[in-house]
Amino acid sequence: AKASGRNTVCFFEAAMGAQAQARFALESELRQAIENDELVLYLQPQCGIDGRLEGAEALVRWRHPQRGLVPPGLFIPVAEDSGLIVPLGDWVLTRCCELLARQEMSHLPLRIAVNVSPRQFRQADFVQRVRHTLASTGADPTRLLLEVTEGVMLDNLADTVGKMSELAALGIHFSIDDFGTGYSSLAYLKRLPIHELKIDKAFIQDAPSDPNDAALVDAILAVARHLNLRVVAEGVETEDQAAFLRSRGPLLYQGYLTGRPEPAEQQLDHWLASQGQ
Ligand code: C2E
Ligand code: CA
Ligand code: CA
Ligand code: CA
Repeated sequence: AKASGRNTVCFFEAAMGAQAQARFALESELRQAIENDELVLYLQPQCGIDGRLEGAEALVRWRHPQRGLVPPGLFIPVAEDSGLIVPLGDWVLTRCCELLARQEMSHLPLRIAVNVSPRQFRQADFVQRVRHTLASTGADPTRLLLEVTEGVMLDNLADTVGKMSELAALGIHFSIDDFGTGYSSLAYLKRLPIHELKIDKAFIQDAPSDPNDAALVDAILAVARHLNLRVVAEGVETEDQAAFLRSRGPLLYQGYLTGRPEPAEQQLDHWLASQGQ
């Protein structure tokens, strides 16, 4: 028993070692990727009930020379743990502001939503970085929305309120991403200068068939109504899901039904063409 116990430990250590090595390899490759411009910006539309384009979420992809397209679910956690999320987040914000500053954008009435990871938001100079990026690109802050998760509310409420208020004063909007999956306190919500709640796709996908998810969606919509916040439903894939949401009142739809994430350039060309520009 003792011997097998030891083998188990050795095997476990070996497996941990391999996993740690793979993670380390991914981390150093990601560091290179940010410098070598292997990251690609995708945009996904957010539409009103009539199909009108109202906004777009920026989603990053990694086009790895050997591995191909690496999904964010694989590298964002590595970036978050290693601190690479800070330069990665800067890269995404800069690309989005460059897009917003382009002349053709005046024909597209949309706000671009950028994901901000908790670690990035916690940086002492986060507000300066955003200000600097806006100034250096010439982007209009009223065309920018930052998506944060409920976690930032738990961090240090005074710091969070301070940073958000400074940026909101410039005209930037804030959204709480994956609302309902974390530990939000409604009292906190009231103290933050936010404009939008995003309902996670996990709730949307089963809402038409699962009364618990339906109740959750209704509760989120009620909170949003009380606080006068816009709502985005994420992961709307089917007509059934859209019909369920339509019966609930006005909100924005973001999902495969209204449009998949596409490379930003392609997406912009497409939108401009459909606007007759
Ligand atoms: P998220 O912010 O919740 O983004 C929504 C995710 O849902 C995206 O996955 C999007 O492609 C996917 N999605 C959209 N519509 C549908 C649908 O109808 N059905 C299904 N099944 N999925 C849909 P993606 O692009 O793989 O991103 C995963 C997560 O990675 C994001 O979740 C976000 O947390 C993170 N992420 C992506 N880009 C960035 C970024 O630039 N910065 C940071 N910090 N995180 C990012
Ligand atoms: Ca998001
Ligand atoms: Ca998310
Ligand atoms: Ca989500």
